Amino acid sequence: MDPRPDPSPPLLRIPRQSGTSLVLRRGDVLRIVDPLGEQVCDLYAFALDDPARVLSSGRSLDYASKLFLTTGDRLYANDSTPMFTIVADTVGRHDFTLTPCSQEMFERLYGVTGRHPSCFENLVNALGPHGIRPEWIGTTFNVFMNVAFDAAGRIEVRPPLSRAGDYLELRAEMDLLCGLTACSAEGSNAGTLKPIDYAVRRAAAVGTP
Ligand SMILES: [Zn+2]
Repeated sequence: MDPRPDPSPPLLRIPRQSGTSLVLRRGDVLRIVDPLGEQVCDLYAFALDDPARVLSSGRSLDYASKLFLTTGDRLYANDSTPMFTIVADTVGRHDFTLTPCSQEMFERLYGVTGRHPSCFENLVNALGPHGIRPEWIGTTFNVFMNVAFDAAGRIEVRPPLSRAGDYLELRAEMDLLCGLTACSAEGSNAGTLKPIDYAVRRAAAVGTP
């Protein structure tokens, strides 16, 4: 008997404080892994055939009627069509309320005066070659980001709950252009900036032969 081929796709690495883009076809499953623990990955997405259809935090939280999305929940586009379904989640705590960290955020919230790498800049650089303009990038799904809200509505960014090897899996519900980062904000990542790993299980390779 021939051994079965290994069905696991290769794990790719996003170096610390950087980003990448990738295309998902409907049915593909994107696995986002925190290889070292306590590291956030920002995700944004556009319909592959129409960049006016974008990931919508507002739609997604409204339809889920909760702030924290996990296995079984969907992420919607601004036209209310599903973009992703979360199919696995070993952490259970992610943020979908805050925009990607940016130069302006570091200046306003942390008093940074010089240039600071940011998820926004990394998304712009990764998605720009695909025709995406900076102002089209909205609220990211911030995988592993631990944001808390007190009774008065104040927002607190806490260290991620993810440990080394934890992961989230998202199934694409349409053809998508995605941007992914290894977050650059010290305050969101327990003080140390680390890489993010990811892998794509292609739908075409999942079906029966
Ligand atoms: Zn960031």
